[in-house]
Amino acid sequence: DARRHQAGFAIYTPELDLSRTSHLSLLSELRQAVEQNELRMFLQPKVCLKTGRVDSAEALIRWQHPRRGFVPPFEFIPFAEQTGRIGQLTRWMLLRAMELTRDLAAKGTPLTVSVNVSARDVQDAGFPEVLDALLAQSGGAPERIRLEITESGVMENADRALTVLHALRARGFTLSLDDFGTGYSSLAYLRRMPVSELKIDRSFVQGIHRDADGESLVKSTIELSHNLGLSVVAEGVETIEEWQTLVRLGSDYVQGYFASKPLAVEDFIAWRAARTPF
Ligand code: C2E
Ligand code: CA
Ligand code: CA
Ligand code: CA
Repeated sequence: DARRHQAGFAIYTPELDLSRTSHLSLLSELRQAVEQNELRMFLQPKVCLKTGRVDSAEALIRWQHPRRGFVPPFEFIPFAEQTGRIGQLTRWMLLRAMELTRDLAAKGTPLTVSVNVSARDVQDAGFPEVLDALLAQSGGAPERIRLEITESGVMENADRALTVLHALRARGFTLSLDDFGTGYSSLAYLRRMPVSELKIDRSFVQGIHRDADGESLVKSTIELSHNLGLSVVAEGVETIEEWQTLVRLGSDYVQGYFASKPLAVEDFIAWRAARTPF
C-alpha cells in the first residue's frame, strides 16, 4: 500500500512540477514578449451605420510566440492581470495606437482606435499620468484614442475607478463601456460613468433576427443609450440578418466578422482603402 502510495506520488509530482514550470516560464516569456517584439496590434473595423464608413477600429492584442505559435488573448490576458503584468501590455498597445493614429491623421486618413483597458488599469490612480507620458512620447492626440472599460472592472472599487475615468475624460480621451449586459449592469453607475459609447455584447447579438425577446432587450438598450447621449456599437455581427436587424433597431455602429475579422495593421489599411461605404 505504501509503495502504491509512493508510486502515486511518483506519477503526480512531475505533473505538478510541469504545471509550475510552465506557469513560471509563461511569466518570464510574457516579460520577454514586449522586448522580443512578439506582440502585434490587430485592428477590427467598426462600421458606422449612418455613413457606411469606417472611421474607427478596435485594437486587439496578438502574441506570436517563437515556439508556442499564436497564443490567443484569453490564454494570457487573464494571466497577465493576475500576475500584475497587464499594465505593461496596456502601455504597449496604447503607444502603438497613439503612433498609428498620429500617422494616419497626418496622411489625411484619420482613424479613432479603441484600446482595451483592464480592471487593474482603471483601479490605478497613476494610470492618467501613464497616459500623459505616452502622449508625450508618441505625439498622439487623446481624441483619437478611445478606452474600452468593463463594468466589472469599474465595480471592483467604483469610487476609485470613477476618479480615474473622470481624469481620463478631462484629458480628452473618450470612454466606451465594453461587453454591456454581461456584468452588473447597474443603471445607476451607467449614469455616473463618463462614457460616450456602449458596446452590446456579442451574446445579445447572435441570432437576434430570430429571437423576439433578444430583440426587445437590444431595442431598449439602444433607446436607453440614446436617451443618455451614448452611441451604440453592436459586437459580434456575423450575418447579414443580424446586421439588418441592428440597422432597424437603430444601432450606430456594427463590429464583427460580417464586416471583417481583426486584421494586421497593414491589412486593415489596405482593406479600408479598397472598400466603398456599404
Ligand atoms: P473583447 O474586448 O470583447 O473583444 C472582442 C472579441 O470578439 C475579439 O476576440 C474579437 O476577435 C472577437 N470577435 C469580433 N467579432 C466577432 C464575431 O463576429 N464573432 C465572434 N465569434 N467573435 C468576434 P479576441 O481578439 O480573441 O479577444 C478576446 C478578449 O481578449 C477581448 O474581448 C478582450 O477582453 C481581451 N483583449 C484582447 N486584446 C486586449 C488588449 O490589448 N488588452 C486587454 N486588456 N484585453 C484584450
Ligand atoms: Ca473590447
Ligand atoms: Ca466586447
Ligand atoms: Ca470580452
